[in-house]
Formats: sequence, structure tokens, C-alpha cells
Amino acid sequence: MPGQFETISSLARQLAKGSVSSRELVEDAIARTETFNPVLNAVISLNKESALAAADLADQARVDGSTSPLLGIPILHKDIFCTRGVKTSCASKMLADFIPPYNATVVDKLQEAGMVSLGKCNMDEFAMGSSNETSFFGAVKNPWDVHRVPGGSSGGSAAAVAAGLAPMATGTDTGGSIRQPAALCGITGLKPTYGRVSRYGMIAFASSMDQAGPMARTAEDCALVLNAMAGHDPLDSTCSDLAVPDYSAVLDQSIKGLRVGLPKEFFSSHLNDAVAKTVTAAIKELEAAGAKIVDVSLPSTDLGVSTYYVIAPAEASANLSRYDGVRYGYRCDSPSDLQDLYLRSRTEGFGEEVKRRILIGAFTLSAASYDQYFMKAQQVRRLIAEEYQAVLKDVDVIAGPSAPNTAFVLNDDSKSVTDMYMEDVFTIGANLAGLPAISVPAGFVDGLPVGMQLIGTRFGEAQLLNIAHQFQRRTDWHSLTPNLEGLTR
Ligand code: GLN
Repeated sequence: MPGQFETISSLARQLAKGSVSSRELVEDAIARTETFNPVLNAVISLNKESALAAADLADQARVDGSTSPLLGIPILHKDIFCTRGVKTSCASKMLADFIPPYNATVVDKLQEAGMVSLGKCNMDEFAMGSSNETSFFGAVKNPWDVHRVPGGSSGGSAAAVAAGLAPMATGTDTGGSIRQPAALCGITGLKPTYGRVSRYGMIAFASSMDQAGPMARTAEDCALVLNAMAGHDPLDSTCSDLAVPDYSAVLDQSIKGLRVGLPKEFFSSHLNDAVAKTVTAAIKELEAAGAKIVDVSLPSTDLGVSTYYVIAPAEASANLSRYDGVRYGYRCDSPSDLQDLYLRSRTEGFGEEVKRRILIGAFTLSAASYDQYFMKAQQVRRLIAEEYQAVLKDVDVIAGPSAPNTAFVLNDDSKSVTDMYMEDVFTIGANLAGLPAISVPAGFVDGLPVGMQLIGTRFGEAQLLNIAHQFQRRTDWHSLTPNLEGLTR
């Protein structure tokens, strides 16, 4: 099969040489999705006809002289990105029949770069979760072990890339939803600086933290895609107008002399011992490449989870108030009056975790608890952001684990809601501080992938990708693939 587990950069070379066509890549991706997806449940809309038509257009554009590096490369989008004429559900019953009349800017930009959209990926409902178990369309299975979760909320995107259904997928990261599933599925995922990538047309969860990014096999591929994804968008007032550098241009720079900070709080009791050993060995590899390892401290790390779980639900409760059964979304059958319509549409349309967040948010924003919770959380957020800024004056990047554990088993009743929230303990800081961060495959524990996280300075994506690429030149964790035999139904 031509496209199986190949990187975008290798496929781009083959497309340029003419040894493979975009149509062949898309046919192969469709065949693989039809074979493996019935078990994985990573893809929830497969748009065969439109993908094949777009592939033919890409092949024709190449004949006509186009040389765009992403031309004809297949892509999957997380189902949080609005796609014109294609169902965009956010994995919720609330939007199960929603067909947007417009594209998200990210979708438009990648399409303009010549990428061919295959369809949409499963996710946690409204991007709330760390396991992909909250999807209205059912859980996603981790290709490394189908009895385990792929992580979340971009779990469908991560599982699809890990299983070779597409060389890349888009994800979004509000508290870790690109990096944690990337880590648990053994792929590379980048959360850009807040404002680097447009949020227009990306269904809002917590608007002050939501950020889209690429999920692919390698840092080199993430750089190629970020080149096309990033940049100013007049339709998103929080999107930066800072010029977009060529992220591919600096990948080969040496990392000799680079200062890498290891926060002691990241190697705490929250971290599984075997994961700690694996990440420590990966960091040694950076040292071997010439980086200097420096001990640093982010004392408020432990406050991150409680801060995030006040701010994110507050913003979510405001954002999700639009789904009222009148203006947007699912409407219940034969309501008796307006109150009944609101009540039953929202009760029936939202899942349990989404309702929990709406309730928490409505509570912390209420007049009686605003000062005690929401204001406090905003103050702690600032403290956390300042701690990161101070550390990043001393070191170039911060390194540590992406997630405290490897992929956990599906439907684990012993895991409480707050246990699940602790999955984000190492990723949330970058969102609260608006910083870019990447997760790269760093090894395995009992056959399950482990991710190393690198957090950089604002708009320091080029440096993160450079370090990750240098790491991937010295290691081959990113090129290992799961055994998909037995993954068919
Ligand atoms: N797991 C986190 C949450 O449930 C992060 C979600 C995200 O980044 N979208 O909120």
C-alpha cells in the first residue's frame, strides 16, 4: 500500500517525482479506513467522492505546474472544524445534524495549500475529555492496544495518524488535547502559541485557550503543515498578525548549547515511574546532542488543574449557551412551552461531561461565587503564566512528560472524574500561559507509547520544531508503528 505510515515529506517527494498520484494516496487511505475504522472508530465522516474529486484536481494542478509542498496530500480534520457542506458534529448529539455553510479558516488554508480532506475525526464531545470516551459516536480505540483509550480530546485524529489512515490530522488543544493523545498514540503533535492559528470556524470550548495545531508522524511534517495553517486572519480578532516564519527552514540547526529546563514539579508523585524513566532517557538524548540540562521550578504546577477546571468550564458555559434548541442545535420533540423546549433540548442534546462543565461554569460565574472562584482562578492563571515567563528567561525550552501515564484501559470505572482531570497536569500550564508546546514520541512502556513534551517561548514554534526534529534524527520512536493485524472486524 503506497501511503501506509509514510510521512508527508516522503509522500511529497513521491508525488513530485510522479511515482505516486494523489488519487492513489486517497484510494489507499479510503481502503485502510474501511478496513480498520470499524474497530478504531477514529473517523466519523468519510467523504469518499469529494476526496477523490479533490485528489484528481490536485493531480491536474501538478500537471499544470503547481509545486505546493502539500499538494495532493490527504488530511483528516477533527470534527470541531466547520467544513462547508460536510457534517460537523463536535461529537455531540447537539450538533449531530449540523452542516456548516462555511469552512473554518484552518480548513480553507490547508485546502488552498492543496491538501485533500478525507473526512472528519472522532473526538471527545465539544473537546471535553482526555480519553475520547465522551463522544456521542462512541469511544475511539488506541491502535497500539484496542482495549485502551487513545487519549483526548483529539483522540480520533491521533488514532487515525497512528494507524496510518492519513499522514496527518488537525487537532485542537485547550488543556492538552493535541499533546496528550499524540503521546498516548506515539505520534507528534504541536499546540501553537495562542493566536498563532486562527480560531475562526473552530467550534468554541474555552476561547481564551483553544488553539488548533497539526498532528503528524514527525516534527518535520508538523512544520510543513504549520507553514500553511498559521497566520493572521481578519475573521479572528485574537489571531496574531506576526509574520509566519518558514518553520521548515530551521529544522536542521544544531541544538548545541541550547538550555533545557527540567521543572522538578513535572517529575513528581503524579508521574508514573516507568514513564519518568523513559522521559528522562529521552532528555539525555537532547543532552547528547549538545543541550545543557538545567533544573528549574514551576511551583504552581499543582494549581494548574484546579485553575483550568474553573476557567475552562466558565468559558464553556458561556460558549455553549447558544445551543438552546432555537438558534442552534438539536431540538426536542413536541415541547409544551418555551421553558420545556430549552430544558429538554439541552438535557437530551448534551452528554454528561458537557453538562457537568456547564453547571460548574454557571456556578463559578454566578454573582455569589464569582469572586471566590472565577476571579481567584484568573489571578492564579496570571501567577502561573508569570512563573513560565520567568523560567523561560533562564532557559530556551522546558522539557518533561506530556502525560503522567501511558494509555489507560477503556471504561475504567476505578478512574474518577478528577483522576481524568489529572491527565492534564503537565499540559495545562502551556494553555494557561498561552505558550507553544509539542509532544514527541520518546519511548515505550510495556508496548505503549510515551511522549516527551517541550514547551517554548511565545511564538517560539520554530525552535520547538527544530529541537523535536533533532531529537527525531537521533531516535526512531516516531517511526515505530502499531501492529494492525487483528484490527479488522
Ligand atoms: N482534557 C482537557 C479537558 O477535558 C483538555 C481538553 C482540550 O484540550 N480540548 O478539558
